[in-house]
Amino acid sequence: MDGKISLIGNFGTNWIKYSDYEIREASKGDIYITPCEGSVFSMYNPFNVAEDLIIDLITIGDIALELEKENNKNKERLNNKILIFTKKYGLLGLISASVYNRDVIGDEKVLLIKNNYITKEKIMDESEYIHKFIPFTEEGDIKVNKYKNCVDIVKREDSPKFYGKRPVVLDLVFSKFYSEKIDWIINFGKMIALHFNQLSVYKNTSVNLTENVTIMAGKFHAEKIGFTIEQLDKTNISWEFDSLKTAIETIYAFAVTDETIVFRRCKHCNDVFIANNTRAKYCDTTCRNRANVKKSRERKSGK
Ligand SMILES: [Zn+2]
Repeated sequence: MDGKISLIGNFGTNWIKYSDYEIREASKGDIYITPCEGSVFSMYNPFNVAEDLIIDLITIGDIALELEKENNKNKERLNNKILIFTKKYGLLGLISASVYNRDVIGDEKVLLIKNNYITKEKIMDESEYIHKFIPFTEEGDIKVNKYKNCVDIVKREDSPKFYGKRPVVLDLVFSKFYSEKIDWIINFGKMIALHFNQLSVYKNTSVNLTENVTIMAGKFHAEKIGFTIEQLDKTNISWEFDSLKTAIETIYAFAVTDETIVFRRCKHCNDVFIANNTRAKYCDTTCRNRANVKKSRERKSGK
């Protein structure tokens, strides 16, 4: 076991992250996470950091679920984790992942997917929808030019443009104006953490399952995965993702079905870790030692 998920085929998607993010309140009191003024972007491929990405997201979900039990008393730790997460991986790209529309920009109406984190509405006006993701823009920051056969975004800054190679909406997602509500990210983390817990319950059940059990049906919405075929020294399928969220959902599905790598919760601290062998119970030697100390104390006190 080398601790890597085997992602067959040429999986990849360039995603953008900024060097710094901040938590900021919008005019209606909604709490957003947004790139800091003066931060710079860099590109990376989420599939190269697949294992860390899954563990970090489940950790966010875990903390959020813990806080729910305590009536949300200490949000500081959760907010810090989310800031670290976005610095490592960028925002989720929910503007694209939550609708069926490919380009979003230039469409008059957007059609929302089921169980999205953004709104209960099924259909929305384009501009109302887009403004949910750019709450801090000022007049002239972003301009959409509509031509007869295409649309274009003009931004008051230098950030990547894909010129038709990827959906137009990504020009916006990769700009410094693009923000996401902190609760959207939390809810996604919770969904993945809950799914992982449910799956573990079935995996560890002593009852033999005789039929396929779908774990939390209807929770994954990787609606817009495309592909192209590329030729270099060999022919490859090149998978294309419209958002980091969709990439994470795909990575997660590979992670929990992979037979050569085991994601497991530590028996001592409950954190998710990659087990080096099928018998590993603890995330590291510290947890193993602590668990052993606890066990021997319990033995001595006759429990
Ligand atoms: Zn541990």
